[in-house]
Order: sequence, then structure tokens, then C-alpha cells
Amino acid sequence: MTTVPTHITIDPDISEATKRFLAQPPRLLIDGELVEAHSGRTIDIVDPGTGALIARSAAADEVDADRAVQAARRAFAPDAPWRRMSALDRGRIILRLARLLEERADEFVELEVLDGGKLKAAAATVDLPLAINHFEYFGGWPSKIEGNTIPVSITDAMVRTERVPVGVVAQIVPWNYPLLMGVWKIAPALAAGCTIVMKPAENTPLSLLRLGQLALEAGMPKGVLNILTGYGAEAGEALVDHPDVDKVAFTGSTAVGTRIAQRAAPMVKRVTLELGGKSPNIIFDDSPVEEAAAAAASAIFFNAGQACAAGSRLYVQKRSYDDVVGRLADIAGSMAVGHGFDPSAQIGPVISARQHERVLGYIDGAQEQGATIAAGGSAFPDAAIPGGYYIRPTVLTDVNDTFTAVREEIFGPVVVAQPFDDIDEIARRANDSPYGLAAGIWTRDITKANRLAGLLQAGTVYINMYGATDAAAPFGGFKMSGYGRDMGHANLESYLETRTVWTNLSH
Ligand code: NAP
Ligand code: MG
Repeated sequence: MTTVPTHITIDPDISEATKRFLAQPPRLLIDGELVEAHSGRTIDIVDPGTGALIARSAAADEVDADRAVQAARRAFAPDAPWRRMSALDRGRIILRLARLLEERADEFVELEVLDGGKLKAAAATVDLPLAINHFEYFGGWPSKIEGNTIPVSITDAMVRTERVPVGVVAQIVPWNYPLLMGVWKIAPALAAGCTIVMKPAENTPLSLLRLGQLALEAGMPKGVLNILTGYGAEAGEALVDHPDVDKVAFTGSTAVGTRIAQRAAPMVKRVTLELGGKSPNIIFDDSPVEEAAAAAASAIFFNAGQACAAGSRLYVQKRSYDDVVGRLADIAGSMAVGHGFDPSAQIGPVISARQHERVLGYIDGAQEQGATIAAGGSAFPDAAIPGGYYIRPTVLTDVNDTFTAVREEIFGPVVVAQPFDDIDEIARRANDSPYGLAAGIWTRDITKANRLAGLLQAGTVYINMYGATDAAAPFGGFKMSGYGRDMGHANLESYLETRTVWTNLSH
């Protein structure tokens, strides 16, 4: 290990560019400048794979939040460059950002591994390409945002609509996809012509801070994209409460999401919420066992189970339940747990000591309620990396729909498996959850699959696949999984207001 600078240890194989970035003093990005937090306070940023300190970030407070919102407001002024720019030029900057992100993809992959505990291959093949695609998709939108002319019944009146940016938006995102969760929100807001104050998760601020710097290189006028690192309870809440923020876009837990909606309500702020999930993955007994088990494993163990749409409730039709769950337990038991830079690792750490404890607590609680551990069930201590937050991929059986581990989102590599008999029973049980984010259906019978899809209260239903996302495909929740959609033009809509303009033609 090398030391960069005195207090920080990082892998010697990291690129010089990433080393330089990690060695930057802790700063916020406000109005195009890297500035110290007003309080001077910082947050330790830790590699979840080793527990080692890799950088420090600036902890923004109310004063910094106000500075950032004021900068975003100035950048949104009618005579500011961002507002006077043509739609095509706005799109060009977004596309330039896509190109820069592609050129620097290796650096971002390193940051996602070090900061977010991701597997390098996953960051390189999922997080980065999806983030780049997102800017490419939304980079084409500004020149296609059109209003209508409306044939009203009043003589000599012309009515047209204009789609205009909602204004200054605060965006608050979680740590499970540090870059991608931010990009899902930044790209459509920019396409709509909004200005942004983005608050990354306190655990994983690095890639979004770096992205903010790239945006300046891409020609984004100062103040359009401000990056406010810090704690949710301080920086996040100050943004939600700020009277000059027009919209709050949030991804995170249902508990924090409901609090944000309450605080935003008195000011009638626009709010969109992408919240938690406890998604059912439903396997019928006509599915090939090997394929079904492998699919069930990747639906839950991808990103160490820290995916909002993770297939965390597995339901297998009775006749193949033992076979599928047995095979799933074998897969879980044989997965290599390790650091994201270890090419043989198939599952990485969870994000933090706190999350490690929380996930293990759910496993213990399930056992106390009578669950059987079919695979995993414990921490994964590795002598070579003693400080990492590893958990063995875990399969819990002998549970029922009342178990806490079946009802609550665990957000770790833990799946609960149960048998079911028929389609009506499974539709009812799948929907027996406060959440409604995603669901998976596995069967060769496409009629049955589509009938069940129509019965499920889920924002996304996957048939014979699981977990895909695309910049063009709306993603979000039913019920307590939130409202509004990320991605696709559904998301663009949420950053636009409609202005209806009436003209008297008889004058
Ligand atoms: P979280 O605790 O709700 O935090 C999310 C973000 O909100 C973080 O930036 C956090 O800051 C901030 N925050 C916390 N308290 C706040 C407050 N009072 N006011 C304003 N902001 C506040 O969620 P998490 O544990 O980081 O992430 C996991 C959750 O996100 C899971 O429930 C998961 O399902 C959900 N998720 C949903 C989607 C989706 O698209 N539906 C996608 C990914 C994740 P700190 O970092 O300082 O806590
Ligand atoms: Mg981290």
C-alpha cells in the first residue's frame, strides 16, 4: 500500500489521475468553484472493501446549501448563459459530458470500486456504460421539447402551451450506485433546462464531485450543476427546506422520502420519490431449474444485494421449489467474496460498518423467528482484508409472509425463499407488501406471464429476465416505493412546467 497523502492509504495500482483526485482537499462545488465548507468540517470516506480511509469530503451545512441554491438561482436567471443558450447547444454540452465521461471511464470505475465497494467488472460494464448512455439519451432531448396549439371553443382566441424548466432543483441520492443514481437525475434536469444542487450520499460523494468538475470542462456554465457533499440531516434537509428550491428529486429510503414529502408540502414544492423495494421474483415450475436458480442468484446478489429493485423475495412453485432453492444455495455457497479490485471476486462488500451490522441483524432476527439458513448467514472475515464489510451470500428458507426478513427491505445479499401453488395465490402474496418497485416472472408460458404481470402492483415487471434498466425505459414505484419516474421522457416531464398562453386574435 502507498500513502497518499499522509493519512490516506490506497491501492498502489490506482491511476495517477485518481490518486490526484483523492488527494484534493475536501471541497464543495459551488458556482463553478471548489470551495471549503463554511464550517470547515469534513467527512471520512472509507473503502468498504478494506475499511481504510481513502479521502475526506467537505460537510456542507445550511450556509453552504444557501450558497449553492443562490448560485443555481443566478444560473437560472432569464439572462444567464444557460437560459439564453439554444436548445441544441444545451444538448451539445450534455453530449460533450457523455464523451468526457467515456474518456475518463477508467477513473470513474476506480472511484466506484474504492468509494462504493463495487466489483471493478460491474462498475466497468454496468455503472459507467449506463451513466454514459443516460447523457447520450437526454442530450438529444432539449431540441425536442415542444408545446401544443389547442383548438379551444372561444372565438378569436389562440391557445398554445410551452414546456418550461421547473427551475432550481435539489437532488438527493443514495450510495448504492453513487454515480448512476446521480446521473439518472442530473441528465433529465439539464435536458429540461433546470439548474441543480446535487447532494450525494455522505458515504459515496467522490464520483459525483468528479462529474461536477467534468461538467465544467464540457462547457456547462458555472452554477448550473453544484455538488453539495454532506450529511442528509444537514445539507439534505437544508435543501428540502430552502424556499428558493422549486423541486426536490429524491432516491433513497421510504422513511426519509416521506419526511421530505412532508417538509416540502407547505411550500408546494414539486417532489419525486424513488424509494425502497422488497421485490418478488416468481419462478413457475415449467422454468429450467439451472436457469431459474442462476437468475434468482443474480437478481439478489448483484451489487451485494444493494439494489432498490433486488429480487429479495423469491417465490418458487411447489414442484420445483426444492430443486431451485437447493441449486440457488449451491451457487450462493460457491460465490467468491472479495474486494472489487480482486478479479476473482463475485460479490463485494456492503457499504459500511453500519449496514454490515444491520444486514447481519436481519439474518439473526430471521433465525430467531424460525428461519433456516440454506446458505451463508454470516460475516465473511478475510485475514487479508480484515477491515472490509463482507457478508456471505445468504439464502433463508422456512420463512412465511409475516417474517420481518420477508416484509422489510434488507438491502444486502440476503434472499428469503418460499414455495407457492398457483397464479392467484402468488399474485396476492406478491402484492402483500407496502412496496411496489419491481417484480420478476419466470415461465415458458407467455400467456400466464402476461396475465400475472397485469395483476402485480409493481412499477417494473421483468419476464424471463431481471434487473435491466435503460435510459429510455421509465423506472419507479407503485405504493410506498414512491411516485414519479426516473428515466425515459416520463422523467423529463417531471422537470418541466406547462405554461398555457392565450392570445386574443380580434385585437
Ligand atoms: P437514505 O438513508 O434514505 O439516504 C438517501 C439520501 O438521502 C442520502 O443522500 C442521505 O444522506 C439523504 N438524507 C438522509 N436523511 C435526510 C433528510 N432528513 N433530509 C434530506 N436528505 C436526507 O437511503 P440509503 O440508505 O442511502 O439508500 C438505500 C435506500 O435507497 C433503499 O431504501 C433503496 O431501496 C433506495 N433506493 C431506491 C432506488 C429507486 O430507484 N427506487 C434506487 C436506489 C436506492 P446521508 O448519506 O447523509 O444519509
Ligand atoms: Mg465510501
